[in-house]
Amino acid sequence: MKPVSVDILGTPHKIIWCKTAQEVDDGGRTLLDGQYDSWKSVIRIHDIERPMEDKLQTLWHEILHGLEKILHTGDLDDRVVDLLATGITYVMLHNDFDVKSWDITQKE
Ligand SMILES: [Zn+2]
Repeated sequence: MKPVSVDILGTPHKIIWCKTAQEVDDGGRTLLDGQYDSWKSVIRIHDIERPMEDKLQTLWHEILHGLEKILHTGDLDDRVVDLLATGITYVMLHNDFDVKSWDITQKE
């Protein structure tokens, strides 16, 4: 099941899965795969007829924009954001990190 919200450093963000690329743009002017709205804390993702890997990459792209805003990094180059999103997506898909099972209190 796809997530409907994501907590980015304590700020809850709603995730809206859109049927069309036009619906992703809140203003309906541009065709987009994803959009981050810092005012409303909303991430919109184009959902239909796209592979899961692409949607996950787009979600990470928008989460990184959220981090950019919340951490006041200033505007990051969108190509860098996209490459980082691609890298994070790859690592997520090719590793089985069940991090919630990691017991950080256990001594070696
Ligand atoms: Zn971007």
